[in-house]
Amino acid sequence: MTRMPPVPRPGILEIAAYVGGEAKLGGHNRVIKLSSNEGALGPSPLAVAAYEAEKGEIHRYPDGGAAELRAAIGAAWGLDPERIVCGAGSDDLLCLLAQAYGGPGTETIVTEHAFAMHPIYARYAGSTVVTAAERGLTADVDAMLACVSPRTTLVLLANPNNPTGTMLPWEEVRRLRRGLPEHVLLVLDAAYAEYLDDPRCSAAIELVDEAGANTVMTRTFSKIYGLGGLRLGWAYAPAAIVDVLNRIRSPFNASRPAQAAAIAALADVRHVEASRAHNARWRRWLVEALAAHGIPVHGTEGNFVLADFAAAGRDAAAADAALRARGIIVRPMGGYGLPGCLRITIGTGEEMAAVAEAVAAFMSGTA
Ligand code: PMP
Repeated sequence: MTRMPPVPRPGILEIAAYVGGEAKLGGHNRVIKLSSNEGALGPSPLAVAAYEAEKGEIHRYPDGGAAELRAAIGAAWGLDPERIVCGAGSDDLLCLLAQAYGGPGTETIVTEHAFAMHPIYARYAGSTVVTAAERGLTADVDAMLACVSPRTTLVLLANPNNPTGTMLPWEEVRRLRRGLPEHVLLVLDAAYAEYLDDPRCSAAIELVDEAGANTVMTRTFSKIYGLGGLRLGWAYAPAAIVDVLNRIRSPFNASRPAQAAAIAALADVRHVEASRAHNARWRRWLVEALAAHGIPVHGTEGNFVLADFAAAGRDAAAADAALRARGIIVRPMGGYGLPGCLRITIGTGEEMAAVAEAVAAFMSGTA
């Protein structure tokens, strides 16, 4: 009997599956998980309570239009709720945008060390991925503009970027927008916005507003709000793009408990402030702890640092193994073309102390 499995669209089997941060380590009951840039302080207790209060209702579909949540997001950041679309993580929205504005025969521009899902979504859409070189691990506007061809329809830019932690100054992003043809959609993936000095990410919002019809910002509840497990993100977009996203998204792409928890999370401003202050404090602390061993970090704009062990003359894979031996999971960067680096999420003070101790032992050869 011959077996003829259905064949997916051309290009799909060339996509290498995303490998997320590991959560478990053999031989360790408790691990310190610093591999997925999750919020160090977890969710607000008010968000957890709101999530639990939905228990009796989970047989009911959520509000497919997420009206209350969009109103809450709009009120929190001074945005028109009609210009917001929610999704199952910002991943959901990035995928929809790549599908709607890319496709066979088109090109999508991504940066050299982009968030791994950017090229995956573009390929899934059937678009050709064009990778723009960076300068010093930071997006380079001239290189991006040099990638534009008559087939370009979409540019994906994470700012701050994961995994580099670097940030393109907003003036440069504006120059990028001005240099791109009007019909090219620019997606500003601002997953780490809330860790910036301006957590509203006003510059990205201004760019969306100024540009008129061709620029979108995506945001997430997975990072500072500590709700990664619930899968909730949102896009702020021009009306025509909101219309497109609403035509193609799955109807209930933001679950009922997720919507309830997110509304409560937005209201708990103190928890968000505490999370931001915690991140700034321990990020500085970790950078200093690494510097004490001669390990430089690249950008530090998000809730993680990209530690360059190779620059300190050390093997990042060996450092990773030494951390793992102590039950600490960080993110090796070989898959991102940065084999000399480890990306370390900012965790609790205790977790940061454990990392510093493990790194010290590794660097002194006593690990
Ligand atoms: N964009 C960037 C730059 C990210 O780092 C992440 C998460 N790692 C996402 C988007 C997706 O986040 P989520 O789907 O959880 O909103």
